[in-house]
Amino acid sequence: MRAGRQPEEITLVAISKSFPFEAIREAHAAGVRHFGENRVQEWESKRPQLADLDGTWHLVGHLQSNKAARAARLFHTIDSVDSLLLAQRLDRALNEQSSRFVPVVGVRHGVPLQTAPLPVLIEVRLDPGATKTGVSGTDLPTLADGILALPNLDLRGLMGIPPFREDLEHVRPNFRRLRELRDSLREHTGQLLPVLSMGMSHDFEVAIEEGATEIRLGTALFGTRSKA
Ligand SMILES: *Cc1c(COP(=O)(O)O)cnc(C)c1O
Repeated sequence: MRAGRQPEEITLVAISKSFPFEAIREAHAAGVRHFGENRVQEWESKRPQLADLDGTWHLVGHLQSNKAARAARLFHTIDSVDSLLLAQRLDRALNEQSSRFVPVVGVRHGVPLQTAPLPVLIEVRLDPGATKTGVSGTDLPTLADGILALPNLDLRGLMGIPPFREDLEHVRPNFRRLRELRDSLREHTGQLLPVLSMGMSHDFEVAIEEGATEIRLGTALFGTRSKA
């Protein structure tokens, strides 16, 4: 490949927000196994029609801590953890659920398959214009330490959304920065932190060149979203 990366190193996460369950079923039939939604409620409403599909469901949107327990039940991984309060709520919810019910596991739907910790990513704020989502680079080590102390969460890496720029060479430094933050965090924590979730439909090629291990594609797979 042009970027010197092997296809197996990169996980495609199909972002199906705003698309109906039929679209997810089609993508699954075409071989996609990772899906992402940005709202707890939206996935909760589509999920019953897809209970027979095997797959890994990611929450990629901002999660309010009061929805943590629901999210922990509905998703296999939370890719947008950005505060210790949220992480603590997730951890506590998992404690109370004693064994986690994997939401969609084909015929074994509803059977408690794993009590393993819930995989999470920390969302880092790459866009200085964005006020709500993501932790700052400065606060990242403290948040990571906090999450690593929680027994029911498994910190796997970082996620980031760069500001939109037509010129991809202006996006590239953001991806590079996320990778560098991950590398320093690796040293700081002694953890592997293998996952770098970065790159969307318009900039995923640059993200791959800069080390992405997960790309999140909506429009490129499903077409243009209608404005809600
Ligand atoms: C919507 C969304 C995507 C996909 O965006 P596209 O530009 O449609 O590929 C990726 N990540 C997050 C967090 C999103 O909310």
